[in-house]
Amino acid sequence: MTAVAKKHGADRILPVLEAGHRVFGENRVQEAQEKWPPLRASFPDVELRLIGPLQSNKAKDAVALFDVIETVDRPKIARALAQEIEKQGRAIPLLAQVNTGEEDQKAGIAPKETDAFLAQCRDEFGLTIAGLMCIPPAGADPAPHFALLAKIAARNGLSELSMGMSADYRIAAQLGATHVRIGTGVFGARG
Ligand SMILES: *Cc1c(COP(=O)(O)O)cnc(C)c1O
Repeated sequence: MTAVAKKHGADRILPVLEAGHRVFGENRVQEAQEKWPPLRASFPDVELRLIGPLQSNKAKDAVALFDVIETVDRPKIARALAQEIEKQGRAIPLLAQVNTGEEDQKAGIAPKETDAFLAQCRDEFGLTIAGLMCIPPAGADPAPHFALLAKIAARNGLSELSMGMSADYRIAAQLGATHVRIGTGVFGARG
């Protein structure tokens, strides 16, 4: 389980660390840069996962800070990440975000373009994509979206599936999620 700590400060995160949890998600690079270095000084085995949209001018900071990046969703970002991974010598796992609901306002690669994008990441950028991530449309039955993500991952031989949030993690787990992303369910309301 990824505990999504966005918008929560160290006062809320520390008790979760002290309880033994180590896998955390953040959706903004800058917010994570401000919060996590001091926390990591005390808890060096934290795994920090980027679950929000990434701009290519933040690729350097993201590769330096995060242990997993879940939101690779276009060639420009894939290229920038490949360059930084090479430069920094940090072979961090990457997931591709799929816009399963094909929503205009949402990040992610279109389902029908995902196979080609994964091949491009591998062949053109030398990147290994370890899995897929999605955020189903608000208010929709999430099950078909999770099933679609699992199907695309299976046909591409990918093992990681980041899907499911506080409201729908049970169904995500039933449909094969390897990482559910829980914010409210761990930390309470974000205010
Ligand atoms: C905020 C967020 C979550 C957690 O949502 P909750 O409903 O609070 O569990 C999960 N995934 C992403 C990408 C998020 O931005």
